[in-house]
Amino acid sequence: MDKIPTVYSRDFLIDYPTVDCECPDRVDRIYSHIKNIADFTEPELCDVSDLMLCHSERLINLVQKDPVIYRTACKSAGGAVKAAELALQGPSFALIRPPGHHAGHDFNGGFCFFNNMAIAIKSLIARGLIKNALIIDIDLHYGNGTHDIVRGDSNITFVNIDSASREDFFNDIGAALKDAQSFDMLCCSAGFDTYIRDWGGLLFTEDYRKAAHMLASSNPHFFTILEGGYYIPDLGINVHAYLKGILEACS
Ligand SMILES: [Zn+2]
Repeated sequence: MDKIPTVYSRDFLIDYPTVDCECPDRVDRIYSHIKNIADFTEPELCDVSDLMLCHSERLINLVQKDPVIYRTACKSAGGAVKAAELALQGPSFALIRPPGHHAGHDFNGGFCFFNNMAIAIKSLIARGLIKNALIIDIDLHYGNGTHDIVRGDSNITFVNIDSASREDFFNDIGAALKDAQSFDMLCCSAGFDTYIRDWGGLLFTEDYRKAAHMLASSNPHFFTILEGGYYIPDLGINVHAYLKGILEACS
């Protein structure tokens, strides 16, 4: 493999109403840095039946009140679904926004509207394409929305990485991956806000390569979706390093 199948749409450049830091420039910067090692695919919108696998009718109606947010959030969730479908063949990446891991069954927040990761996995399970999945969330922030949706679901295991040091970060990922091969799919909610110059102040560019290598080596049916990451000057090089780690694991 010399390029990573990557789901992306110019619709993610839409400046829908949200906080200033979760801006279109995030994905634009990543796109320009990874285009040499990414093979891009346009996602479809997910439909209401996908949303209903994870969210209450009340929450869906709430997001629908802003048609621009609703359409972009459905495109983002559709991007995660597409990345999960691609992972049936091999590793993939979804360069999407808005992020999703703070959206729960009946709440949202933290710049998230719908839970892209939970929707993708539940969609594949509902269609009988996989039976189970392991989600590892390496964003700086706790994936409270994902936890809320998948708790009690014996087919989906959720591990949130929350490490105080770089050493712990890799130890924690290693521990989370111990049984990764026993799952039909391995899924990563990747936030790059753990970066040394971002809010987390923890990881260096090279660390994302190493983390991705560990993940991609643990299960061939592996996909990653973008969650957070707000230090725009280095966001592209960090995602590029992450994708290089996947390519190296698969070579
Ligand atoms: Zn975050």
